[in-house]
Amino acid sequence: MEETTIVMYPAPSIGHIISMVELAKLLIHHHQHFSITILLTTGFMDHPSIDSYINRVSSSHPSITFHRLPTVAVNHTTTQSIAATAFQFIKSNAVNIETKLRQIIQTSVIKAFIIDLFCTSAMETASAMQIPVYYFFTSGAAVLSLYSYFPKIHSLTKSSFKDMVGVEISAPGNMALNAALMPEPVLDRDDPAYWEMLYFCEHLSKAKGIVVNTFRELEVVAVKVVEDGACFPDVEGSSPPVYCIGPLIADAQQPDEARGIKDCLSWLDKQPSKSVVYLCFGSRGSFSMTQLKEIAEGLERSGHRFLWVVKRPVQEHLGTKKVYDTTGEFDLSSILPSGFIERTKERGLVVRSWAPQVEVLSRESIGGFVSHCGWNSVLEGVVAGVPMIAWPLYAEQHVNRNVMVEDMKVAVAVEQRAGDMFVSGEEVEKRVRELMDSEKGREIRERSLKFKDMARDALGEFGSSTKALANLVQTWNVISH
Ligand code: UDP
Repeated sequence: MEETTIVMYPAPSIGHIISMVELAKLLIHHHQHFSITILLTTGFMDHPSIDSYINRVSSSHPSITFHRLPTVAVNHTTTQSIAATAFQFIKSNAVNIETKLRQIIQTSVIKAFIIDLFCTSAMETASAMQIPVYYFFTSGAAVLSLYSYFPKIHSLTKSSFKDMVGVEISAPGNMALNAALMPEPVLDRDDPAYWEMLYFCEHLSKAKGIVVNTFRELEVVAVKVVEDGACFPDVEGSSPPVYCIGPLIADAQQPDEARGIKDCLSWLDKQPSKSVVYLCFGSRGSFSMTQLKEIAEGLERSGHRFLWVVKRPVQEHLGTKKVYDTTGEFDLSSILPSGFIERTKERGLVVRSWAPQVEVLSRESIGGFVSHCGWNSVLEGVVAGVPMIAWPLYAEQHVNRNVMVEDMKVAVAVEQRAGDMFVSGEEVEKRVRELMDSEKGREIRERSLKFKDMARDALGEFGSSTKALANLVQTWNVISH
């Protein structure tokens, strides 16, 4: 009998790869009869610890196999956006994908080819081979609705969103969003990334199904919209089924950089219950030195305990062309206000570049999380039951901010200056105090704890996400070739 297999194709970013690996683990956990092959690109955004990470995963989960695609050269110029280069790179892998899929179908039946939104270029190849294509959407249902609706929004204007400051964009299940805060790759029509995104979003409705890293109870309104198809304006007949299978968050098997830096955990364990504000802005969240100084001043004046992950600062003269080189050595004391570390050493800890976030958030002493609203961070905060301060920076984080503050009500938002998104020290102090000291903060904390229970229940034996996963697998069991 031929083997049945699932093939997965994540986008070449460590966050997207980790999410896809977690989906693979969940599938294997509940439905052991599958083997899973995960295809990884080589040549762009390769994570330094990816090899040790995939070795660990394959040795603990023998049914998961990784296949590195041959190296593809990429030419990134500073005149091109990173997203445009990344999309071009993924497109250049189409031949490699076709070769690999052809090889797999020699010996196995591919029940599903699960791709990241950014890997849509592989859909045509797989469909031509009669392989059912599914999306794994690594953000939440609100963003899925916005992206599914994007072709419609696109058709309503000829301008770039970046030039439509103050114009409100509406999508089903979403609060109105200032056009200038739309996700980064769709801001500018002169950026080839815009047209790629349009192509990706147009293809969402063509998938056999969309698996989303969220859970029904978390995004009630947006989940309804994506399930009943209201966000697919041009689809005649039925829209693709949506499977909310989350929250999937990274486990301790993270890349090495997240494993080594454990000192902050023992420091956290010495702090009182729910007393520490944790500040971390994702894998790319760098600030200018001016902004770092304001955060430092705000934290100092708040009087609260804190654990702050600081990345290498961006160079301000680069203006709006943000450079996300968050690697490399730098000296913390030379970028923070003079004497800050010394003055706050009794109640604060500053960590350079990276902290083991999932473990940090699980510590009893954590009382709040200042987050850049990346979807993985949001889910990690929810799973830990930690109330948040929303400080969106890039990508689809402004949409996530709206969901966290207005829909889930698990966060307060910082007020950001229009244009450059600067946040003053007074504002940092005010929001930290609001979350940690006020009645509103107490209500948000209680709500966050309820979501923690709901997240656990969703993944429990009879939970909504477990059921959705079983429904998905059921469709594969009845698909025959
Ligand atoms: N992360 C971490 N330590 C850090 C920064 C980030 O462990 O110092 C992890 C975090 O737990 C999350 C991921 O990196 O799993 C970031 O993903 P997210 O979607 O929040 O943001 P992105 O980096 O994609 O903007």
